[in-house]
Amino acid sequence: MVRTRFAPSPTGYLHIGGVRTALFSWLYARKHGGQFILRIEDTDLERSTPESVDAILQGMAWLDLDFDEGPFYQTQRFDRYNEIIEQWLAEGKAYYCYASQQELDDMREGQMARKEKPRYDGRYRDFTGTAPEGIMPVVRFKNPLDGAVVIKDLIKGEVVVQNSELDDLIIRRSDGSPTYNFTVVVDDWEMKITHVIRGDDHLNNTPRQINMLRALGVEPPIYAHLPMVLGEDGQRLSKRHGAVSVLQYKEAGYLPDGLLNYLARLGWSHGDQEIFSRDELIQYFDLNHINGAPGKFDADKCLWTNQQHLQMQGGLQLARHVAPHLAAVDIDVDQGAELSAVCELLKERAKTVADIAMQAHCFYQDPTSYDEDTRAKHWTTASAKPVLQSLLQSLEDLSDWSATSIHDVMLAAGKDNGVKMGQVGMPFRLALTGSGQSPAIDQVAMLLGKQTVIRRLVAAISLL
Ligand code: GLU
Repeated sequence: MVRTRFAPSPTGYLHIGGVRTALFSWLYARKHGGQFILRIEDTDLERSTPESVDAILQGMAWLDLDFDEGPFYQTQRFDRYNEIIEQWLAEGKAYYCYASQQELDDMREGQMARKEKPRYDGRYRDFTGTAPEGIMPVVRFKNPLDGAVVIKDLIKGEVVVQNSELDDLIIRRSDGSPTYNFTVVVDDWEMKITHVIRGDDHLNNTPRQINMLRALGVEPPIYAHLPMVLGEDGQRLSKRHGAVSVLQYKEAGYLPDGLLNYLARLGWSHGDQEIFSRDELIQYFDLNHINGAPGKFDADKCLWTNQQHLQMQGGLQLARHVAPHLAAVDIDVDQGAELSAVCELLKERAKTVADIAMQAHCFYQDPTSYDEDTRAKHWTTASAKPVLQSLLQSLEDLSDWSATSIHDVMLAAGKDNGVKMGQVGMPFRLALTGSGQSPAIDQVAMLLGKQTVIRRLVAAISLL
């Protein structure tokens, strides 16, 4: 059974690059009928925060990247990590290192002066003497001295690292806390991870992790290291490039499926296809078609992709995403037009659900002001008032409240007053929405309902 995991460190917001890693792991598990695990790597006690954990959980929930197990927290597994460290100490697979900071600094300086690569020289590897006073030792893993580690990476191909290049890694700090490379190894093993899919910034950790897995007597999982996500300028994607936190995309009104589609395409392809439903992503995703080169985040294309998804979704689906945007500005969508129908009407001109929400205000709130330019142009004509009055009268009497009947009423009002349709539509639009722009006004009026239309017409006429 395929088991993948997403293992973020909760030291900031959930980054778009991290989301792509999560997505690929999730897709791989879903495609293969496997399981996806969420693991919070919070061993760095100083940099991890509960707010960041919260942002990760919120982001995953919003994107609907559901996990089958977890979230596991590494801070809750310290006893287990220590058990293994003690076992390794007893078996001679790990050892206490008493080197003081001064000693390490001197060692480093000497190596630099000799133009050698700075590395721990293994001075306490075979130490059997009495422990020096006043030093809280760290624990180091005894990395093999000879041979090489071969990583058969699904994306990078075969990567060979000589053990002579690797020094003895600290697995427990002097304050007793285990370190990242070690906890990952224990967890990937005990959580039975079959495929580790992660950013290639971790590639240099992999040979060390493989050596530790071997020390546990287990076969390493399969690795797939993804190229980074870069900004348009080719630098690693960061705040400088604009929105990078996934929750910013939620606020900006992206659809989870739109954002995930864009991120999937950023570094993966399936022929020329650009737009994928979630099911298609699961169906087509594979690690063989990951681009070996880093992907550049293109904000315009991301928005375009989102727009395509917006058009694909039905009003009911969209309403679910639009409602929170309206609730955030205290609009009660239960009082007024049916939100799903409003979404269906507005989606064509929108790129985000925030656009829809913005345009939707007028379906729930009477205008508090009227656009100046439209007013000057369309309410000052001699015909404006009589036209609105005819509309008011006929609509009050209208029993079949449909867009077609409203349209007919508008035609008749134009005819009766000897004006063209535009001279009916625009004053009417301004009266109902306060603005000079909206979708077809007969549709708008139909969704607003008779009572609201009458009320707004009366208010407008009193101003003319
Ligand atoms: N916790 C690591 C990070 O956030 C990821 C570790 C891994 O995927 O192995 O960068």
